[in-house]
Amino acid sequence: MGITPERILAGRWIAGPRIEDAMLVASELNKAGIKAMVNYLGEELRDEESIEDAVKTYISLVKRARKNNARISIAVKPTQIGMSIGMEEAKRNYLRILEAAGTAGIFTWLDMENYMYVDNTINLYLWNRRKAMAGICLQAYLKRSVGDLKRITKAEGTVRLVKGAYREGEEISYRKRSEINRNYRKMMRYLFDNSQRFMIATHDKEMISTAVRMNKRSRKDLSFAMLKGINNRYAKKLSSEGMKVEIYLPFGERWIDYAYRRLREASNISLLIRHIFDE
Ligand SMILES: Cc1cc2nc3c(=O)[nH]c(=O)nc-3n(C[C@H](O)[C@H](O)[C@H](O)COP(=O)(O)OP(=O)(O)OC[C@H]3O[C@@H](n4cnc5c(N)ncnc54)[C@H](O)[C@@H]3O)c2cc1C
Repeated sequence: MGITPERILAGRWIAGPRIEDAMLVASELNKAGIKAMVNYLGEELRDEESIEDAVKTYISLVKRARKNNARISIAVKPTQIGMSIGMEEAKRNYLRILEAAGTAGIFTWLDMENYMYVDNTINLYLWNRRKAMAGICLQAYLKRSVGDLKRITKAEGTVRLVKGAYREGEEISYRKRSEINRNYRKMMRYLFDNSQRFMIATHDKEMISTAVRMNKRSRKDLSFAMLKGINNRYAKKLSSEGMKVEIYLPFGERWIDYAYRRLREASNISLLIRHIFDE
């Protein structure tokens, strides 16, 4: 494949193809006081071999991180561990990853994908009994998410709040930025009022400042997270000011879907160029 914008940018957004690449970037982040939230790239996997490769890669990754004393969490996409085939496959593999990660003292996040997987992803998360070491992502652009947040909070789950990265229909999702932001703020307030531990995952400085301000009063176990290559200088600043910060760090060969989502969000070329020269 030739040189394309997404290929150039993928280098900023992705650690590299191998576990070693992820460990190297994780160790640089750790030096800046930041935890790496490592994701092995891959989604919508339907063949047994690729699914098994994904599960085994996460298991090797957590063992390696433990050996290196690396401060990481992992972020797993349900459809890379079998959800596109069926719930039983996803449950079996989720458990294998949770067991290995738990033994290594590593927290496991479930990413949230397309709308068609939301119910099953929440059911998968709530089915697991190891919630102390596991969290789930919720997307503020979905109209249903406030209800999901209440359900997960009542079950003492840990939520990572994002705006949402997929294209969804207007019957089920907010489309205007102002509406998404309003729902994000609403969900954030709910978390401050009803949850002890949660993650605010955004590059939106206004949301982050609001959360920092709210936490001065609430003193929750709050962490922030950003994606590799986007506003990471700001992430380092937050970390130096004493906030808990994680950076989502993808690695692997299957970078195209991830890179397209980031390209779409960047929305204009000047924003992209600014980010290329940012750090
Ligand atoms: C740690 C983490 C985990 C995530 N996990 C998931 C998940 O599981 N499921 C899911 O649907 N989504 C996930 N996302 C993506 C998220 O839903 C948004 O699509 C993404 O974070 C952009 O939205 P924003 O919150 O930064 O706000 P926005 O309002 O979109 O952006 C705020 C500012 O951030 C900067 N910015 C944002 N994106 C870019 C970009 N691509 N290039 C350059 N600048 C940019 C711009 O300065 C922009 O003004 C995750 C995001 C993070 C940070």
